Amino acid sequence: MALIVQKFGGTSVGSVERIAQVAEKIKTFKAQGNDLIIVVSAMSGETNRLIGLAREICADPDPREMDVILSTGEQVTIGLLAMALKAIEVPAVSYTGAQVRIETDDAFGKARIQHIDEQKLRTELDDGKVVIVAGFQGMDGNGNITTLGRGGSDTTAVALAAALKADECQIYTDVDGVYTTDPRVVDSARRLDKVTFEEMLEMASLGSKVLQIRAVEFAGKYNVPLRVLHSFKEGPGTLITLEEDLSMEQPVISGIAFNRDEAKLTIRGVPDTPGVAYKILGPVSAANIEIDMIVQNVSQDQTTDFTFTVNRNDQRRTEEILRKVATDIGAREVAGDSAIAKVSIVGVGMRSHAGVASKMFEALAQHGINILMISTSEIKISVVIDEKYLELAVRTLHSAFELDAPAEDAEQIG
Ligand code: ASP
Ligand code: MG
Repeated sequence: MALIVQKFGGTSVGSVERIAQVAEKIKTFKAQGNDLIIVVSAMSGETNRLIGLAREICADPDPREMDVILSTGEQVTIGLLAMALKAIEVPAVSYTGAQVRIETDDAFGKARIQHIDEQKLRTELDDGKVVIVAGFQGMDGNGNITTLGRGGSDTTAVALAAALKADECQIYTDVDGVYTTDPRVVDSARRLDKVTFEEMLEMASLGSKVLQIRAVEFAGKYNVPLRVLHSFKEGPGTLITLEEDLSMEQPVISGIAFNRDEAKLTIRGVPDTPGVAYKILGPVSAANIEIDMIVQNVSQDQTTDFTFTVNRNDQRRTEEILRKVATDIGAREVAGDSAIAKVSIVGVGMRSHAGVASKMFEALAQHGINILMISTSEIKISVVIDEKYLELAVRTLHSAFELDAPAEDAEQIG
């Protein structure tokens, strides 16, 4: 008998019909002899609706009161699901985050879980019940309701699985797993059977939005096996674990991630003196603007060019700051470019294989794709390219690193 935490996302509980379907599914798992903790999100669209209501009252709502409102979405779903289970003779009980003592700090809207009291959950499980817990919410030290940030139900599920040392934490959603890249861009993208926490974190932070990043960090830290599955289609999904697959067939690269959210800023003719990088980036971070990639060229004639990327939403503000900086330090000019995209190859296999970067650059060169910036980490190589080549670059790299699904599979799908 296994203890499994299962989380159903907003679209999976988006209507009463779907809730009834989820209840049937839970009944089957229970009949197989499993102990089950179920975490649910608010019905799809509900959290946004609640945010809209609050904003109609007030442009900048009080964070504590905001959490009082936002936590209601999940409270509705737990009650409905408990009723749906009881209606088909499955003993079930629903609890809010506060009721099962999911204790958090008091950072309303982005609270962090500090402690979970497992006693109550264990007692109900021992009683043979399916325990349904509201995702995304907790309670601070003073009994205030808190929420964990958008997508936070994933984190609730992982935290419960960690606290109860569950055998697996299963995230049921509207995709059937984690893919080698976005299937909307590459037809031959493949579902991965397995991926490591590290790889998943890199891919998630690069824009693959299957799981909340914090949930993956949490699962990695406590070594909770995490599986992403489709709510209404059969299939093994994708298992996210600590273990690297050591089999020979394991590809060097697990996935290709990309994003179009960044803009590139360059400050040219910067005097090459100590402290100049700080003079440029200091005011940018003081304005709370996050910087991603940074490149500084080797100097010529005692001046250098300095380029970095920020989120596109911050481009204008950053340019304004840089113009002031340029005058102060005597740099020549400031230029901004938002028609760029970042493409990254991710894989733990990079650690033990040479030539991965050159293979990436060769593939891009063969298609005449110019690389504007490069950055690397132990398991990732990212390039910034002209946005109009993004899809071509992703497809090219996907086949260069042999990630394409075999032709038979593609035919079966199509
Ligand atoms: N309902 C919350 C949201 O939409 C939490 C979640 O779904 O995980 O962000
Ligand atoms: Mg979600």
